[in-house]
Amino acid sequence: MLEMFKGYKGAALKTLQSYKARVWGETVISTTRGTFTGIILPRSESDDDQHIVLKLVTGYNVGITVDTITGMKEIGYRKANYKIPEKEFPMSPDKPNVRLFGTGGTIASRLDYRTGAVIPAFSPGELYGAVPELADICNLTTEKLFGVFSENMGPEEYKTLAKAIGEAIRGGVDGIVVGHGTDTMHHTAAALSFMVQNSPVPIVMVGSQRSSDRPSSDAALNLIHATTTAAHSDIAEVLVCMFGPTSDEYALLHRGTRVRKMHSSYRSTFRTIGDYPVATVQKNVITPLRDDYCKRRTDRDVTILPYFEEKVSLLYYYPNMRPDIIDSLVDNGYRGIVIAGTGLGHVNKAVYPAIERACRKGVAIYMTVQTLWGYVHMFVYDTGRDLMDLGIIPADNMLPEVAYIKLGWALGQTDDPEKVREIMLTPISSETTEREPYNGYLILQGGIPEVENFLKTFHK
Ligand code: ASP
Repeated sequence: MLEMFKGYKGAALKTLQSYKARVWGETVISTTRGTFTGIILPRSESDDDQHIVLKLVTGYNVGITVDTITGMKEIGYRKANYKIPEKEFPMSPDKPNVRLFGTGGTIASRLDYRTGAVIPAFSPGELYGAVPELADICNLTTEKLFGVFSENMGPEEYKTLAKAIGEAIRGGVDGIVVGHGTDTMHHTAAALSFMVQNSPVPIVMVGSQRSSDRPSSDAALNLIHATTTAAHSDIAEVLVCMFGPTSDEYALLHRGTRVRKMHSSYRSTFRTIGDYPVATVQKNVITPLRDDYCKRRTDRDVTILPYFEEKVSLLYYYPNMRPDIIDSLVDNGYRGIVIAGTGLGHVNKAVYPAIERACRKGVAIYMTVQTLWGYVHMFVYDTGRDLMDLGIIPADNMLPEVAYIKLGWALGQTDDPEKVREIMLTPISSETTEREPYNGYLILQGGIPEVENFLKTFHK
């Protein structure tokens, strides 16, 4: 294929040819849905022939369906070369050893502008070429486990990742970093918090909201913060490490069971919910905000519990929910349902008979709250009491996604409802807490004066 149409075929190629447009051309494309201006990117041979991919000035890539195109005009030409130089990662016996597992997501991807394919910048040599600071922090080894966007992570991937982490820890590494798409990072963080217990070293999940080919990318700094934490912190827990405020002043380390993605595009998207984060990281300085965390140890006694029952569902209640939703889960063999209820943990009366039937058939049903902050309180209104009489079990202040992961993990281990209940209601990794701190809620707004004043008492 000619360089000027790199990767394009069929209908897409015909469209480019008919408008005399070419790859790397800065082009105005008129469509039935509006006008787009950007640079036409190459595609890889395996892509479809129905789209032309344009890199907009915002840095986002869009695929434009050829059927909608009514005109194309080239206004410039900018060929990019994004090849990351690969350099040998310098190893030193005085530095801690960190293993980076890749699962995919934006942090692992950059567009290879030569082929148009999205490929990972992932070997230690490539990472060192892109982020040389990593070599000052640790000896880095990498292992690519998957290359998926995080909506494709699921039970099988959780188990594989947990086992790989167990092996690396037993093999002697001083810390683990997991590169992951941000969208479901909090689900995987919860899964690892249950599947990898008693870790002697930090397990730090990291991603990026903006890919490394964009000027505002958070990929490099997040990697630096995460590897610093894995190599040097004494926090031997599953953590998520991402921007604290919207600026790049510091990262927050969030507990794997108390964290949630809260903004679709901010770099400071992750927030600890119902508690304080564990620490801040500013380049190479880690400042704990609490001291009740599991400390680093030198033994290798990690426990890996890679279980998950896939027939578990998370139901987000909405007004006018009909009972057939619950009936169909039961009829399709689901063994567990987590409900994210309104307020203190409610659903409408219309679904009560379906809930009763589900509980009678042995389906484990747990209630969480859509408000995210605060506890399920089912004794306050009689509707809550009625629901408990039907068999629903309140899950305290466990986040809905965490309860979903924990129920899958619990049902993966046992069929006995009493055992499942015991597992669900015994905190393993701070997924339920005795109380939420009175000003913890402010942490949600990272970067505002109240939070900064609070942090100043730690950042001396
Ligand atoms: N959609 C991507 C993912 O979650 C976004 C990201 O990596 O941040 O895999």
